[in-house]
Amino acid sequence: MGKRTKQYKRLMRDFEFLGFRQPYQLLMTSDVLLDTLKLDLIHLFEKTLSTKDLKPMITQCCIRALYNKNMGPNRDPAAAGAIDRAKLFERRRCGHLMDQDPLSEFECMMSVVDPKGKGENKFRYIVATQDEELRERLRSVVPTPLMYIRRSVLILEPMAAASAKVRQKEERAK
Ligand SMILES: [Zn+2]
Repeated sequence: MGKRTKQYKRLMRDFEFLGFRQPYQLLMTSDVLLDTLKLDLIHLFEKTLSTKDLKPMITQCCIRALYNKNMGPNRDPAAAGAIDRAKLFERRRCGHLMDQDPLSEFECMMSVVDPKGKGENKFRYIVATQDEELRERLRSVVPTPLMYIRRSVLILEPMAAASAKVRQKEERAK
């Protein structure tokens, strides 16, 4: 087993200590799909998280973002393929109304991961996003495993300081 695989396994064990259970719920934004069209994305997730027991999900707003990128003069050539792939995922009903001003993916993800704005990842989602600002914001939503793609490699970030603190506290309480 590679060093990185071991490190990620240990990391996910730490997250399981904080309430994560398989199948892992894996929530991703549209940019991940757009950036990985030529890769076997699900296999990458399975390998990185050392399990086949995961549930890829996408919110209604993130799907809508893909449809928007598939229209108009600035149409993203990867969008059609990304939509096809997203259709295989479970749709996370975020409840943001289609006929009103749509939420940005950032706002949608924040409301789904931390619905009460209390800094808690209530439903224990693993989040994959290429949006650095969103990852930065989610580091203070406890506990949230964060993933992104860099040069065709799927990266699992080390546990953020806020989550690690809770992890230590829980362990001491045992
Ligand atoms: Zn939404």
